[in-house]
Amino acid sequence: MRKPFIAGNWKMNTNGAGAKALASGLVGQLSEIDSVDVAVCPPSVYLQSVAKALSSSNIALGAQNMYFESNGAYTGETSAEMLKDVCCTYVIVGHSERRHVLGETDEMVNKKVSTAIGAGLLPILCVGELLEQRQGEETEAVVSRQIKAGLAGLSAEKVEAVTVAYEPVWAIGTGLTATPEQAQEVHLMIRKLLAEIYSESVAADIRIQYGGSAKPGNTAELMACPDVDGLLVGGASLKVDDFAAMIKTVV
Ligand code: PEP
Repeated sequence: MRKPFIAGNWKMNTNGAGAKALASGLVGQLSEIDSVDVAVCPPSVYLQSVAKALSSSNIALGAQNMYFESNGAYTGETSAEMLKDVCCTYVIVGHSERRHVLGETDEMVNKKVSTAIGAGLLPILCVGELLEQRQGEETEAVVSRQIKAGLAGLSAEKVEAVTVAYEPVWAIGTGLTATPEQAQEVHLMIRKLLAEIYSESVAADIRIQYGGSAKPGNTAELMACPDVDGLLVGGASLKVDDFAAMIKTVV
């Protein structure tokens, strides 16, 4: 059985006080919950203060990005070891904003996934098609390529550390959500691909989150899809009540 997993991606939002307040607010509302894995991914400068606010809770800490080298002359970058050092459990890798705004390639994403696992972090590997790719019926080809490239060289044992997040780019931050049918179709395709690459049992264990304008009002229908195991939430994760309501919907 895959335990539901809901993660909040705060992106480049909040400030010091706001990040602490958001984390403390969630701790207050979600202290009893253990049937859903919950994580928040604040901006890296606030990881330590958010870690402190979460310290007596079940809510895990994640980072939004990392670099694949462990130290050295990489100005502005953060290593997997550094993220471990500030109590991160998860790291988002290959978010569409990093792929399409910041030029991250499949090869970089692959190095990050494997470095994260090597350092003991649990990567959330994001994949998803652009609007024109969906319209051109390329969704399966694009998502398959991103999965194969992102997981290249990873053993069956190591891949169990990975959560896949299917995030259609046209649904991220746009208010457009994939229908449950659209989400389920791609999630099932991803699971079948994981079974081909690894095995049925590995594929059955890997959690696949949906991301793209998920909010309290569409959580139940998305989570009712058999292959949707959780959500990666952007905008709605910035409001304590909304994010907590989404998690409570799944409990
Ligand atoms: C995201 O940033 O991963 C995301 C899904 O954003 P939103 O929920 O705002 O669409």
